[in-house]
Amino acid sequence: MIRFRGVGASRGIAVGRAHLTEVPVSITERRILRHDREAELARLESAVDDTQKQLDRLYRQLDAAPGSAGHDLIDLHRVILRSPELDGEARRLINEECFAAEWAVTRALERIRSVFARLNDAYFRDRGGDFEAVGDRLLRVLLGLPELRPEDNARGAIAVGVDMSPLDLFALQRAGIEAMVSESGGATSHAAIVARAFGLPYVVGVRQVAGRIKPGTTLIVDGTRGEVVVDPDDDALRVYRARAGAQRDRARQLETTRRLPSVTTDGVAIHLAANVESLAGVSAAVAAGAESIGLFRTEFLYLERADLPSEEEQYQDAVSALRAAEGLPVTFRTLDLGGDKLPLAVKIPAGPNPALGIRSARFSLHRPDILKRQLRALYRASAVGPVRYMFPLVSGVKELERLRRVCDEVRAELGDEKAAHDPATPLGVMIETPSAAMTADHLARHCDFLSVGTNDLIQYAFAADRENDDVAHLHQPLHAAVLRTLKSLVDMARAADAPISICGDMAGDPFLTWILIGLGFRDLSMDRDRIPLVKAVVRGSSVAEAEALVRQALALEDESRVGELLRSRLEDRFPIELEGFIPSDRGD
Ligand code: PEP
Ligand code: MG
Repeated sequence: MIRFRGVGASRGIAVGRAHLTEVPVSITERRILRHDREAELARLESAVDDTQKQLDRLYRQLDAAPGSAGHDLIDLHRVILRSPELDGEARRLINEECFAAEWAVTRALERIRSVFARLNDAYFRDRGGDFEAVGDRLLRVLLGLPELRPEDNARGAIAVGVDMSPLDLFALQRAGIEAMVSESGGATSHAAIVARAFGLPYVVGVRQVAGRIKPGTTLIVDGTRGEVVVDPDDDALRVYRARAGAQRDRARQLETTRRLPSVTTDGVAIHLAANVESLAGVSAAVAAGAESIGLFRTEFLYLERADLPSEEEQYQDAVSALRAAEGLPVTFRTLDLGGDKLPLAVKIPAGPNPALGIRSARFSLHRPDILKRQLRALYRASAVGPVRYMFPLVSGVKELERLRRVCDEVRAELGDEKAAHDPATPLGVMIETPSAAMTADHLARHCDFLSVGTNDLIQYAFAADRENDDVAHLHQPLHAAVLRTLKSLVDMARAADAPISICGDMAGDPFLTWILIGLGFRDLSMDRDRIPLVKAVVRGSSVAEAEALVRQALALEDESRVGELLRSRLEDRFPIELEGFIPSDRGD
């Protein structure tokens, strides 16, 4: 039995067999006799033919119109398979160096890798990944290994991998996986957000785990504490099963608060909204007691598709969301593409550092045709129910003005077409960059509401990639830089008389509820399973005591002292709600 420690990115406990999503093939040097070269070349040729057949089958199975980005990708892989760099170089090595075919392919790939590593442009560097994928496929054929399909035999298992993208999680969830473990990734990464939306336990940042677990080994994943136990003994299984049972009981206990109002003991209402990533998520959020949908991450509806959604599809999806919300307002965020959210359907010129490149609102301005199509759909849906929409990652007033000009065009067009819509649909701005945070009062004058995305705001404030677990320790919501920024945002919003909410992960952390209400936030949007936890804290606290605590917290230099202060005030009062949320308990 071995225990690994990582970061809990999605709560809950699962026990199951390990399912490795990446199985590296290891090849050692092997040479052949000179007179066997013809036979070796024929072996390579036949493996290339079989690999081509796999690609042809994948092409036929694509669930999209011909000419889609998915088809383009497989076409590219077919070209790579027979390219001079891969096939040509492997043949040369067999002919001139008497290498065995798999050794020749491995050496050709090494060469390709070193060429791509020297490229500056991220788009072309990423194409190196396409060579790797094709080379891996060819090597598996040469070695007689089955085609690797991460989704096969995944039902009931626990996925273990080096890296998991939001797209991987969609595929694994469909395949029936019960939990995930990965070496990289952060607790506020988009893969973690998807895992929470699916209610699947997920532990990230587990160093060197993939190479140390054999397929089929029994694993315990504790996403609440960020632990993974490999090959557990009977005692460990008993402990974790009991813990899982206790968590289920607590969840049931908290369920009873669903219909109770979210009001503090001194009578202040705290609006609790939900973040959702899917249409099914909307009804689940309503059932969990959400008072509105504070953030609909619309891009997740379309990430997996090989083509872009039409206006009509987006309209139908928005109308379905409004119906599922049963009259509650829905805040649609416009497509937040780029960074780690790369749809199959469009190429995004990410640049050398995608998180600092063309993403989110910048991508919308780069492709106003895509933005316009979505805005037309959302404005049309505003005739059906209470729609609000907001732009992600706005960096200043000029950018907002450019975005607003697209909105004006859309409204004018719909007016000319006499299409039903509400021209006064509220428009919001997400505060996710330090530049937006410092000029929130200016931004507030050009929009109807502000919503603070603390996941990105913290990533950019500390220059620490939220996807990179090596810098996860810099994600410090209690740092004075964050507390002061949030305080000044509330002050600026008040001065501009603009509503302000918070929809980053901080809003759904019950350990931070006192901080947020003490700073003056009255509108919090979170994953739906956090609503009962935060509501219980709200109902058991007064704004006056939260404000007093915040006054003390703002005077502290060291964020761990702020954590201790919070712990001393909250731990005994909310033991059930705070389980797994107190930083020192998580081993942070
Ligand atoms: C945020 O950045 O806090 C946010 C809510 O947006 P996302 O997590 O989708 O980037
Ligand atoms: Mg964000």
